[in-house]
Amino acid sequence: MSAAAPERLRPASLPQVRRERGQREVFCGLTGIVWLHRKMPDAFFLVVGSRTCAHLLQSAAGVMIFAEPRFATAIIEERDLAGLADLDAELDRVVTRLLDRRPEIRTLFLVGSCPSEVIKLDLPRAARRLQDARPGSRILSYSGSGIETTFTEGEDACLAALVPQAPTGDVSSLLIVGALPDIVEDQFERLFAELGIGPVRFFPGRSATDLPPIGPGTRFLLAQPFLGETARVLEARGAERLEAPFPFGAEGTTAWVRAAARAFGVDEMHLRQVVAPYRERAKRALERHRARLEGKTIFFMPDSQLEVPLARFLSAELGMVPVEVCTPFLHTRHLAEELALLPAGTPVTEGQDVEAQLDRVRTARPDLTVCGLGLANPLEAEGLTTKWAIELVFTPIHGFDQAGDLAELFARPLRRRDVLRV
Ligand code: SF4
Repeated sequence: MSAAAPERLRPASLPQVRRERGQREVFCGLTGIVWLHRKMPDAFFLVVGSRTCAHLLQSAAGVMIFAEPRFATAIIEERDLAGLADLDAELDRVVTRLLDRRPEIRTLFLVGSCPSEVIKLDLPRAARRLQDARPGSRILSYSGSGIETTFTEGEDACLAALVPQAPTGDVSSLLIVGALPDIVEDQFERLFAELGIGPVRFFPGRSATDLPPIGPGTRFLLAQPFLGETARVLEARGAERLEAPFPFGAEGTTAWVRAAARAFGVDEMHLRQVVAPYRERAKRALERHRARLEGKTIFFMPDSQLEVPLARFLSAELGMVPVEVCTPFLHTRHLAEELALLPAGTPVTEGQDVEAQLDRVRTARPDLTVCGLGLANPLEAEGLTTKWAIELVFTPIHGFDQAGDLAELFARPLRRRDVLRV
């Protein structure tokens, strides 16, 4: 077999991008806490917010009720401007009580939200004040507010806040950026070791305190397409982003790994030899789903920012037909390779005007619509088959070994639809 890029991964012309700025229907950035607290067990997330925020977190991560909690909400009730001074004092009191009770917390994130009382609070300043008072703890802040962030942007804001804490260093290293499940991290670690690439560090790693050195020698691969701000602050530290598609599917992962191999001077023959068995296994896993997915139309509503890479994966590796690919934000530089690999003429939309998009879904009647939880039920009631975008964030989908599982996520609702029709 050959590990060369197939015809399908040859760039097409860049698509025209429609921009919509209307009503949005998407989770806020607080949602990221659900996977970030699992990734960094020594970090604690204190949401400075309202009862709505507490409710969102409890329902999104209800399972945590049974575990030692690693996030909480400091409820800020309605109050007038005159009460702002007490707000700072109240925050200090909550943080002090928390850190006294839980000395094992090494990094505390104060997470901002949307209530106007919280917006008036200067959280970065509060974090610095609290940090000065407790030099043994690291206290940082970022915004997960629904006004400023959607869904996966919470992770971007969190990681961007963490970058300045990392030690500087200019030794040659590869940094994989974006929260990945531990199992996927282990697989990539083995693969890069086989290729002779190293040292390899992951950001975030399994500890919020053990941060990788970042400097001019650091070359980084984004594992997630929604880390625009994180990439910006890494580049400001002198790190270099390696241009690559994202590691979804056999071809996407091969191209992603190849970008690192080239940067680290790994011979193409060696790369092909190492990657071949992984890539073959991934292709066999994908083949099992091809019959159900090939030729089927798919519409992506804007949600996780994974839309463009996933549309590329589904079209290039499984023959699906993207009717329209909508994404909350389009980082054209980070997605350049992905956009070029979409089938020519694929409509791409940045932003949302939810009613207009729903009308286009109804007109197109795609075989599958990927959307948020709130839109799925009404569309199902109209006889359309949907896939919840949030599952794509909570399921391991990166890399060779997960390629089949990723395809399965799209095949399953179509299988269910076919069964119901019979
Ligand atoms: S941050 Fe804003 S959008 Fe998110 S749960 Fe709290 S109030 Fe709602």
